[in-house]
Amino acid sequence: MGRTLAVVGGGVIGSMIAWRAARKGWDTTVHEHDIADSASWVAGGMLGCMGEARPGEDTALDLARESARRWPVVLTALADPAISVATDTLLIAADTADAHELATRSDYLLGHGLAMKPLSGKDIRSVSPGLGSSVRRGYLAMGEGAVDNRALLQALRTAATDAGVAVRAHHVTDISELDADQVVVAAGVGTGRLWPPAAVRAEKGEIIRLRRPPTAPPPPDNVIRARWRGRLVYLVPRHDGVVVGATQYEVGIETDPDPRAGGVADLLADAIEVMPGLAEYRVSEVGGGMRPVTPDALPLIGRIDDRTVLAAGHGRNGIMLAPITAELVTDHLDGTVDPRWSATLDPRRFT
Ligand SMILES: Cc1cc2nc3c(=O)[nH]c(=O)nc-3n(C[C@H](O)[C@H](O)[C@H](O)COP(=O)(O)OP(=O)(O)OC[C@H]3O[C@@H](n4cnc5c(N)ncnc54)[C@H](O)[C@@H]3O)c2cc1C
Repeated sequence: MGRTLAVVGGGVIGSMIAWRAARKGWDTTVHEHDIADSASWVAGGMLGCMGEARPGEDTALDLARESARRWPVVLTALADPAISVATDTLLIAADTADAHELATRSDYLLGHGLAMKPLSGKDIRSVSPGLGSSVRRGYLAMGEGAVDNRALLQALRTAATDAGVAVRAHHVTDISELDADQVVVAAGVGTGRLWPPAAVRAEKGEIIRLRRPPTAPPPPDNVIRARWRGRLVYLVPRHDGVVVGATQYEVGIETDPDPRAGGVADLLADAIEVMPGLAEYRVSEVGGGMRPVTPDALPLIGRIDDRTVLAAGHGRNGIMLAPITAELVTDHLDGTVDPRWSATLDPRRFT
């Protein structure tokens, strides 16, 4: 088999795949339409394993754990101190119902051998002094950090280019016209336009970037994931501020990526109650993006024919899942498929 590879999509999934494939000897070209349109550019950057776990989604948890184990190697190889922005996560609750939901998640995780440390409201404020007085209780997820997604994309692009990857800025309309022995489609919510059977739909999310002026309190050291009177809001630190996210709208209701005023208002109100000092921060960006989601909340990773491998549908956790995805895709390219995942993640499982 020849060793030329075309990767469609330069988001976190396509970039991580291209970088790994080039290091494994593939002569790789990334075909990228516009990175500013990607979910990877908009995202918060949490590496959520425990924080994203949902009772019943056991396979998603297993896959996230596999990827979490690979992140330290990726960060060491990229060797860019701007990428990592937090190493632990605080999960906090405002009222009894929120605390009950967190306790259910903690029990579920314990059943899978993952322990989070329970904390009272007072304990939480001693770990993260800027948090408001409404914080009732919570948990510390040690070792569950976050990356600056834009620094990550930049570092991946540099590392891939250094490894020999070429990048072509254009919109692919037909993968059969790509001049390569093998093709990887990693086009996020655009995947279905290139392979219509792909069960990938868009789920909208709004997010706000806040910049800290010199007089305001510092951003938190940890990721803060708050369950706030039935709503969800998270704060992801940046070196110069904080990212506040994110709303989540059912597929089909919203197809316009521009942020909704109501969604942004809820996020800001909740974020300032969680951490009152944020009221002094400056709004540097309000954005909206489309998460590529699938019916079973698991990505589509695998072959669709002898020449084409698909990697899409990573939903709310695509940054987290990038390292394991790149490994599974390059295994498919090299014909050494891990049987543990091949049927579960088969892109044709819904067709
Ligand atoms: C508000 C929000 C917050 C999020 N927060 C987190 C988080 O904290 N942690 C986490 O792990 N995940 C998070 N996610 C999810 C994560 O961003 C996605 O799962 C992930 O970015 C998907 O990566 P991708 O490369 O598959 O798709 P994308 O990032 O969307 O990239 C696909 C790329 O393909 C290109 N493309 C598409 N079609 C074509 C074509 N025909 N030709 C050429 N190029 C094409 C697009 O221009 C795009 O750049 C968040 C998502 C949103 C919306």
